[in-house]
Amino acid sequence: MLILGIECTAHTFGCGVASSDGEILANVNSEYIPDKGGIHPREAARHHANVAPSILKSALSKAGVEIEAVNGIAISLGPGLGPCLRTGATVARALAAYFEKPLIPVNHCVAHIEIAKLICDAEDPLVVYVSGGNTIIAAYAGGRYRVFGETLDIALGNCLDVFARRAGLPHPGGPYIEKLAREGERFIPLPYVVKGQDVSFSGLLTAALKKLDEGERLEDLCYSLQEVAFSMVCEVAERAIAHTMKKELLLTGGVAANRRLQEMLKAVAEEHGATFGVVPHEYARDNGAMIAWTGVLAMKHGITIPLEESFIKPRWRLDAVDVPWVGESEVAAIEEGS
Ligand code: AMP
Ligand code: MG
Repeated sequence: MLILGIECTAHTFGCGVASSDGEILANVNSEYIPDKGGIHPREAARHHANVAPSILKSALSKAGVEIEAVNGIAISLGPGLGPCLRTGATVARALAAYFEKPLIPVNHCVAHIEIAKLICDAEDPLVVYVSGGNTIIAAYAGGRYRVFGETLDIALGNCLDVFARRAGLPHPGGPYIEKLAREGERFIPLPYVVKGQDVSFSGLLTAALKKLDEGERLEDLCYSLQEVAFSMVCEVAERAIAHTMKKELLLTGGVAANRRLQEMLKAVAEEHGATFGVVPHEYARDNGAMIAWTGVLAMKHGITIPLEESFIKPRWRLDAVDVPWVGESEVAAIEEGS
């Protein structure tokens, strides 16, 4: 079975092709980078509409398949920015209708987890997903991926990007902050906000910006911002792994590229006897392959959606999605054993 997957929830339009035996045949993505300021949803959607034909063609040609040969079109229906989701859904519906292929609804966050498991060869991990738009600590339990912690306001990547922009650094700012943080010499106390299992970055961002205006050294601020923000994520991840007793910890999303965050989460994993894995950037960023692969898993369970019901879901939560393909091997093992 071959599935074409389309990603379009925010800044990236991507097409991927995955096979039922877990081979990624193509992963072609185009990211919208604003000239200045943050992502404007309508501008991003315009970018997606412009690049869609060439990205699709390029993915199919990389995979060496004609669209007639694919068995379904998987589309990320949410969560994400309305105009971007609509553009992607329009492309997917048009392809599904014209080529008479089933349409497979995919949740973007589920897809981040599934591709992380595939690429890192993990079975049942605790996943730390930190990107420009999401901050979620999740693991499988009872038929769904459950959220063991998330941001109450802005995402970790967004916090870093906004701070970087105000400091005059290029977009996206995460990598620049990481570099400057290495030159940090003095820790500047900043608000550390963990509420129950959730984190909040907006107060931290405001305080860091205030310190910037007050003339604190940028390197020290980058260092302190990273230490505080990453410690918050680690605290929540640590309680989650202690509670769930998962034996694998996977780090994904754009912010996964950060060496300091990797180092801190690796220590958490080791402390709890879990292996630690970082998803390579190609599959940690938003990408078409993750939608294609999750499409394969869903299609195997007959999960498709009629075109007329394929509404976008800008606020579609990770823990609202049944994932019947997870835990199958355990069920099979139990049945075999009995
Ligand atoms: P995504 O939304 O998954 O495409 O990830 C983009 C986010 O990852 C942006 O907020 C970037 O600033 C952030 N990012 C990328 N590389 C790094 C890094 N080395 N350190 C921190 N954040 C990063
Ligand atoms: Mg994402």
